[in-house]
Amino acid sequence: MKVLVAVKRVIDYNVKVRVKNDGSGIDLANVKMSMNPFDEIAIEEAVRLKEAGIVTEVIAVSCGLTACQETLRNAMAIGADRGILVETEVELQPLAVAKLLQALVVKEAPQLVILGKQAIDDDANQTGQMLAALLDWPQATFASKVVIADGHALVTREVDGGLETLQLDLPLVITTDLRLNTPRYATLPNIMKAKKKPLAVLKPAELGVDVSPRIATLKVLEPAKRKAGVKVADVAQLIDKLKNEAKVI
Ligand code: AMP
Repeated sequence: MKVLVAVKRVIDYNVKVRVKNDGSGIDLANVKMSMNPFDEIAIEEAVRLKEAGIVTEVIAVSCGLTACQETLRNAMAIGADRGILVETEVELQPLAVAKLLQALVVKEAPQLVILGKQAIDDDANQTGQMLAALLDWPQATFASKVVIADGHALVTREVDGGLETLQLDLPLVITTDLRLNTPRYATLPNIMKAKKKPLAVLKPAELGVDVSPRIATLKVLEPAKRKAGVKVADVAQLIDKLKNEAKVI
């Protein structure tokens, strides 16, 4: 069976995010971009399913700018067999991505789609759920363990206060949580091999999807700056400040 894995190019998790001066968004000039960490976990899980002989082909999909090709090459270096870039300069929102993935599911007929539970840039946590709804497929979100056998999947989910295990029929949508696996590093030989793997480029119109934004961002603000603290000389001064300045005791 084929697996489709969605990989998003996002601002690297180590980068301190800067807001543009006019508050219209995040400053992405000269900023390091990487694959969304939850999507690395998604690719790793798909590759492990292939190594276990359950999956025959792993297809990585990224939607966005031409530069997402780099993200796809990275996915192929981890072990995806081929990549599909849905290329657009429009800023994509989760519903648009879900519709693009839905069109690719119709085209490629995978039995499983794996996404990250959320993209660390918009933190939307919506795309997987919207895709499952559009396809009318079962979904298992926040997966920390996936077992596929006898035509169905057993997925353990991280829920408040514990773990929940679901049995689901294929085809299905899974979104990954942090503890599902530890992605491998792409080795140099695999990075070289990935350069030769097929990478198709499509436009949203070829998939019949209107990706125009439905939601407008009004303003992006940095968190309020905290005032610097002060050092107190002794306990008596601390008590005095708590009583008379902070007025909390
Ligand atoms: P979100 O709903 O934006 O938090 O994203 C959840 C997941 O959807 C991500 O971890 C990716 O697997 C997938 N996804 C979102 N946006 C894109 C995109 N532009 N290209 C590929 N995959 C995406």
